[in-house]
Amino acid sequence: MTYTPANDRYQTMTYRRAGRSGLRLPAISLGLWHNFGEGRPAERQRAIVRRAFDLGVTHFDLANNYGPPPGSAETAFGAILGSDLAHHRDEIVVSTKAGYHMWGGPYGEWGSRKHLVSSLDQSLRRLNLDYVDVFYHHRPDPDTPLEETMGALDAVVRAGKALYVGISNYSAEQTSRAAAVLQDLGTPLLLHQPSYSILNRWIEKDRLLDTLAQAGAGCIAFSPLQQGLLTDRYLGGIPDDSRVRTSTFLNESDLNTRTMGRIHALNDIAKRRGQSLAQLALAWALRDERMTSLIIGASSVEQLEANVAALDKPHLSAEELGEIDATALD
Ligand code: NDP
Repeated sequence: MTYTPANDRYQTMTYRRAGRSGLRLPAISLGLWHNFGEGRPAERQRAIVRRAFDLGVTHFDLANNYGPPPGSAETAFGAILGSDLAHHRDEIVVSTKAGYHMWGGPYGEWGSRKHLVSSLDQSLRRLNLDYVDVFYHHRPDPDTPLEETMGALDAVVRAGKALYVGISNYSAEQTSRAAAVLQDLGTPLLLHQPSYSILNRWIEKDRLLDTLAQAGAGCIAFSPLQQGLLTDRYLGGIPDDSRVRTSTFLNESDLNTRTMGRIHALNDIAKRRGQSLAQLALAWALRDERMTSLIIGASSVEQLEANVAALDKPHLSAEELGEIDATALD
């Protein structure tokens, strides 16, 4: 059936500027790490992407290795773009990454120019696109000179294969150096993509937001729901269709007594605010305006809708923030 996007799709979403760039991103972006591999029904994938676009989610986050198998999420998203969103390419920001293991031999991962340029070419073929909007180096490479890795990011922009560049999983100190190299090359750092949630606060200790503000770059956090722990998914046990059962990235051992105690206490705070736990977790992670966007995952349209609705009630009082800290950092 032909898809016609909702006319009101830009009326309710909040858009935030990525650092000092000209690019604004939806406060909630959709990530395709899980739920878009070959084992998931194509019609459900398509419904999630369409609904996201209807809700003003203009940004879709991918990587070369998303699936499983690696590459299949880009192939699936490319097909949805082609079938439903081809006329809306200029309304959409597509991001992809390279750096984690993708193919065998010395060029299939890390941060060489050889890996980055080849991987992006593969991604563009899978996505069936001429360019991506944002191309990231997915993780720091301790053995490749930063100048080579950042030089490769600059080169793909000059070649017209990406409009902007980002880095992911870099420490604040590594970020500062990467941003300086990119600045010298004339391709400013657009975004850093770190993990961040109520239960995972390394960026606060590292003062990453301060570093990014100084560099003029934005921050876009991944796994703000701690892969589903900060939702009602596990409050009553482990559902068979949940990530704990369907992937190796979240394990039963992550649901230990201490963590579950925190999750139940956070859920009580959310209930008092008239929100779900997921909505509380998202409102919390967006409380600093320097956080450009959060990349959520969703295994259903209902999850996506519930998460976007977090933006209806964003404000957290000082008292609520204190209570969240006391619960999560006890
Ligand atoms: P989340 O923390 O948002 O977890 C998503 C999972 O939480 C869903 O798959 C679902 O689990 C559950 N969930 C989501 N919403 C709800 C809801 N309303 N109610 C109940 N359960 C819910 O993020 P992800 O870990 O999926 O990461 C998001 C994105 O971030 C990725 O797709 C990717 O684009 C990016 N990322 C980047 C990384 C990097 O190194 N740069 C690393 C990891 C992710 P279930 O599937 O069990 O239903």
